[in-house]
This record gives sequence, C-alpha cells and structure tokens, in this order.
Amino acid sequence: MNIHEYQAKALLRSYGAPVSDGRVVLKAEEAKTAAGELDGPLWVVKAQIHAGGRGKGKFKEPEAGEKGGVRLAKSVEEAETLAKQMLGRTLVTHQTGPVGKQVNRIYIEDGSDIARELYLALLVDRQSSRISFVASTEGGMDIEEVAAHTPEKIVSFSVDPASGLSDFHGRRVAFALGLEGNQVKQCVALVKTLYKAFTEKDMEMLEINPLIVMPDGNLKVLDAKISFDGNAIYRHADIAALRDETEEDPKELAASKFDLNYIALDGEIGCMVNGAGLAMATMDIIKLYGAEPANFLDVGGGATKEKVTEAFKIITSDPNVKGILVNIFGGIMRCDVIAEGVLAAVKEVGLKVPLVVRLEGTNVELGKEIIRNSGLNVIAGDNLADAAQKIVKAVKG
Ligand code: GDP
Ligand code: MG
Repeated sequence: MNIHEYQAKALLRSYGAPVSDGRVVLKAEEAKTAAGELDGPLWVVKAQIHAGGRGKGKFKEPEAGEKGGVRLAKSVEEAETLAKQMLGRTLVTHQTGPVGKQVNRIYIEDGSDIARELYLALLVDRQSSRISFVASTEGGMDIEEVAAHTPEKIVSFSVDPASGLSDFHGRRVAFALGLEGNQVKQCVALVKTLYKAFTEKDMEMLEINPLIVMPDGNLKVLDAKISFDGNAIYRHADIAALRDETEEDPKELAASKFDLNYIALDGEIGCMVNGAGLAMATMDIIKLYGAEPANFLDVGGGATKEKVTEAFKIITSDPNVKGILVNIFGGIMRCDVIAEGVLAAVKEVGLKVPLVVRLEGTNVELGKEIIRNSGLNVIAGDNLADAAQKIVKAVKG
C-alpha cells in the first residue's frame, strides 16, 4: 500500500526525522491561508499523487502551465495561484504512464535552500531476506538512471537482523554520501530513525529523494515515498487510515474487496486462474504463443460462484481485453462446480469476446460436458498449450 508524500513526512516527523513544515490543501481557496501559516519567504507547491518524477512531469491541460508538479512560489498569493493551476488537473510523469494521474491534493511546504541533493532508501531485499540501505550522492535524479549509467555512484548494503542496526551502518551511509563532521552525527541519527520507522510500521520501501544538505550544513528529508507491506496493514490501523482509494486502479480496488489477487497489465488476453503458480504459468504460455496477458488473476483455491462472477466483471470491464482464458485446476474445487460458476458468470455479465476454458482435475469430464452443453459460445481447451493456442488464435485471428 502506498501513501502520499505529505503523509509519509508526517509519519517520519513523528519519529523525529527532519522535515519541513507544510500544509495539505484539497481546495484552491484554502491555499492562501495554508501558505500564510508557513514562514516563507519561499514556498513549495507540490502535487500529491502516488507516483514519483512529479518535478519533471507535465500536465495534460494547458491551463496548468508549462512547469511540472513541484513548483516554487515567492509569495502566498503565488502559492495560491500555483495550487489553483494544479488542482483537478492531470499530471503525467514517467511513473504514471501516459494516462497520468489527477491531482486532488496539494502540499504546500516551507521552501528550503539546497546545497546538495542526496539519495537514501531502505527496502526489503528479497534476495538477502534483509533490509537493505541504498545510498547515492546523485540525489534528485531518477535512481534507475543512475543505476544504468553510473552504478559505481550507488552504495548498497544490508542489515543483519540478528545483530540489528548500529551506528556503524549510519556512518557507512554518511561516508557513501560524502558527509562530514556534524553531518555524520545527523546521518547516524537519521538512519536509526528511518530504520525504526521502517521496521515498526512494516514498510516495504522508504525512499528519500532528495535528502538535502542545506547551506547551513544541516540535513533534511525533502521528498519521501513509502510503501507498506499490504499483508501487514491489519496490524496498523493508523496506516490503513491513510489509504487513498482514488489513487488505486479501480479494477484492483474492486478485486481487493472480493479477496481476489488481481494485477492489471497491458496485454489483450484476460486470465482467470486459481493459484498463483498456475497464474504465472498461464501468463508465460500466453506470451510463448505470441500474445500478452491483460492481467494476473488468482481467484484462490476456494473460488465460489460469486468470486468467479466478480472476477469476470473485473476482466470484462478492461477495454483492452480482446479474449479471456479461464485456466482452472479442480483440486479442492470440483471442475463441475467451476464450470457452473463460469457459465453463471458469463450469463450474468455477458460476453463480447472469445472465451476459452481449460479445466483439469476432479470431475473434469463432467465439467467439460457442462461447458459443451451450455449453448454459450465457449471454446473448450484440452490442455494448457491447446487452450493458450486457441485463445491467442481467437484474438489474433
Ligand atoms: P519528485 O519530482 O516527485 O521526486 O518531487 P520532489 O519532492 O523530489 O521534488 C523535485 C525537485 O524539486 C527536488 O529534487 C528539488 O530539486 C526541488 N525542490 C523540492 N522542494 C524544494 C525546496 O524546498 N526548495 C528548493 N529550492 N527546491 C525544492
Ligand atoms: Mg523526489
């Protein structure tokens, strides 16, 4: 689960990290008052969307002006004008995809003077099964670009969970960032603070880009992006309350409400599968035969008729879907029950694209017979390869 920058900063502030004072506004009329509560003489007006690269982003609407989603203002009036320009507009960054994201919240911050922009992140490194730090002197830039062109400028190491975090880790980060004197002390404290917040709140990623050195030599967290482990959200009511559903893919949101594991993708073949491994294999074989999956969807082991219907609704609501492949292994579930569920779903939702169903497992013959006798335009697949070839052929012609 992702949260907004202003929420991330409030959380980090509560742990004692140095962040600027700021106010979130939902309406342009609130902007002037909000900016007036901050010191000035410089204000930063920041579009709040769940995507990075806002500064270099571009708005779709010409009324929003030429500049990106992070703008500097020299007066409260200017801050108000900038907020007005951005609110309700669509910001496109390299992370939003070409459709962009609508800006519904603006964060107005006390502007900082910047001497250096640095990069610091913590993430769960699945390879080492540990929390890793990533530090670079190249802050304010796209870290993927830095990794691609100057990987030697990125320092990464993990923390042994048995011995935990110590000052040594903080000094290692400070050294990687080229910090000196009192900054090292600040960095050690910051690293401790971030690690504490990271572990206590079950974060998956915490990215500070940039972490800045100000002209007075002090460090400050200027941008913050946090994602939390969705499986641990039940332990954190305070974090769950920060969820902004308008930022999520409506299809993924609907799926989460029905406990379906769904991830929208860019392809043309919708997949409905039970079991994550089988879902991966199904996506692979679709690619093997020359098409692309429109989604990952695991309906789970105990897929009920209601779940299957809901899954169908979500798949068919995607205008990119030109065909559907249902690939179900009847282990806990019997194939005849699944066949009935699929047919009921098709009857309820309607079907405007070709549908191939491949069933295997308990009562498979009965299941296939139900599909055959349904009178609906459903193509039966004999095995995984056959089913994949049939749906690709039906879609590609
Ligand atoms: P992002 O583009 O989504 O990563 O948004 P950031 O919050 O990182 O802002 C982008 C850039 O705007 C930063 O790298 C800074 O160069 C600049 N910026 C952000 N806040 C301030 C500020 O308080 N003062 C100044 N001078 N520049 C800022
Ligand atoms: Mg940033």
